[in-house]
Amino acid sequence: MDISYESTEPVPDRAVLKGSCYCRHLTYLIAVENVDSIKTSMCHCTACKKVYGGAFGLTAKVPVHGFRYEVGSGACVVHVGANDAGVPVYREFCGKCGSRICEYHEGIKEHFRYVSIGSLEEPSMLPPKGEFFCSQREAWMPEVHGIPQNSGKEKRRGKVCAGGGEVGDERREQLGRGDGKKRKSVRMSR
Ligand SMILES: [Zn+2]
Ligand SMILES: [Zn+2]
Repeated sequence: MDISYESTEPVPDRAVLKGSCYCRHLTYLIAVENVDSIKTSMCHCTACKKVYGGAFGLTAKVPVHGFRYEVGSGACVVHVGANDAGVPVYREFCGKCGSRICEYHEGIKEHFRYVSIGSLEEPSMLPPKGEFFCSQREAWMPEVHGIPQNSGKEKRRGKVCAGGGEVGDERREQLGRGDGKKRKSVRMSR
């Protein structure tokens, strides 16, 4: 069941999370059947640092039909760029205060939104379930214990993070190609 763009009523049997930009020009809802099923990630890549203006990015991956701006919300501004692989990346933000709401690349445009967890009214509901591009983690920052740590070796192959450029939800990637090391297959999911 998709939530309607005309309805402001929460959809029964679905958890509804609310969020907004800093100035509340943009307000949005996330409706999911199970909050615990939402994939969340902390990313230390250089693109996320720039986009967030901070030491890392923190996003929740939600189905596109479960995300919508509220009726009465202002319109977002969309910045379209390209990641290192040349894939278009869309970032939606508030044109008044600059807060970033979500991002998605061309490959997942019709399916998912990576929503900035800090824009939720209750961001503590969605702690990170994995860290990415840990090789670019700031030296002063400790890792989050108890969640998977992904090294960021994919950066050597010109990849950027999932919101910015992972092609496909999950992927297998050959590491070591061209750098003389043994080939190794890793599975990344974000
Ligand atoms: Zn705003
Ligand atoms: Zn990133």
